[in-house]
Amino acid sequence: MKKAIAIIVTTILLALALFFIFAPRIVDDQQNPVTEHSPYPVSEQAQALHNTLIIGDWHADTLLWNRDISKQHDYSHVDLPRLRQGNVGLQMFTTVTKSPSGLNYSHNDNDAPDDITKLALGQRWPVNTWSSLSARALHQADKLHRFERQNPTELFIIKSQADLKQWQQKREQNPRLIGGLIGTEGSHALDGKLENVQQLFDAGFRMMSLQHFFDNKLGGSLHGTKKSGLTNFGRNVIKKIIELDIILDVSHSSEAVVADVLSMTDRPLVVSHTGFKGHCTNDRNISDALMQKIAANGGLIAVGYWHGAVCGNQPKHVVDAMKYGLDLVGEDHLSLGSDFDGSVTVGFDSSELAALTHEMLAQGFSENQIRKIMGGNMLAFLKQYLPSQ
Ligand SMILES: [Zn+2]
Repeated sequence: MKKAIAIIVTTILLALALFFIFAPRIVDDQQNPVTEHSPYPVSEQAQALHNTLIIGDWHADTLLWNRDISKQHDYSHVDLPRLRQGNVGLQMFTTVTKSPSGLNYSHNDNDAPDDITKLALGQRWPVNTWSSLSARALHQADKLHRFERQNPTELFIIKSQADLKQWQQKREQNPRLIGGLIGTEGSHALDGKLENVQQLFDAGFRMMSLQHFFDNKLGGSLHGTKKSGLTNFGRNVIKKIIELDIILDVSHSSEAVVADVLSMTDRPLVVSHTGFKGHCTNDRNISDALMQKIAANGGLIAVGYWHGAVCGNQPKHVVDAMKYGLDLVGEDHLSLGSDFDGSVTVGFDSSELAALTHEMLAQGFSENQIRKIMGGNMLAFLKQYLPSQ
């Protein structure tokens, strides 16, 4: 009898161990695929230009997954070696903290079961992350700080204009050095508390978005049930965000929220991962008229690489959207917003960005336009709007 119990207990423990070793990798691989493809064309001219660009991306959810980003992987989208192969200099790492099951772009109920709770359990995150969304954001930021400590010649976290300058100087000596920034995907990471804006700032967060796939205490999501504007709490959060010089990201926010934010502040906004509704008509993208208002206010629109944003996931589709954006808002307001590792199927990973430079040249973009869109605009924005120290 004792022997039988011992066998059963051992089997259960073994099964659990195998689950915790293999399941996170399997889920990561399944959630973040790259469509199979032969190498994209990159002309000598395109590669030569690509090598001289400062490339920056506003949105990757890489920290959600248990992946050592200092090592190269043959699945998912982002790690430091692949960012280097793509000649990426600046990467905003966004932290996802709640994501309702059955994601869709038109209507998500706040009460739908949350997938991130399962990920927190399956990836053995600290116990406080099982229930606190703010703890989930802080845990992901901690991971990036740990990667920086372990790989100081590969990753440098940027929290101020002074850091940005330091990163640029260091990168002249060491082109391997990637500048990382930390942002939130939705302000439910505040756990409903205004004082947590300061807590996130202290943990290095320099960009915050307001909503994700569902309405929250701040206001309506673009994919929620109410599509409402900012609440009083939302207005107070925005005042605090502005006071601390945190960059405001309005991706996933309802059009009413975006309009309310625009009426509250002259501070330029970022749409960190999006497409243009006039180019790709669906509920993921806000109206062209609102995009023009964001641009007129000095904002940046960062174009994503997946089907929901640009109605395709090949370099051509992304550049088609950029071309549309050029006409709509102009070259000074476009940027990259991959949504890599954000549970999307992309056509290329972070190592293959030269394909975008090639495609932009092929579609007649000027060298100056390519420089701005690939990262020049992001660098200029950070130079101006990060806290000075
Ligand atoms: Zn997103």
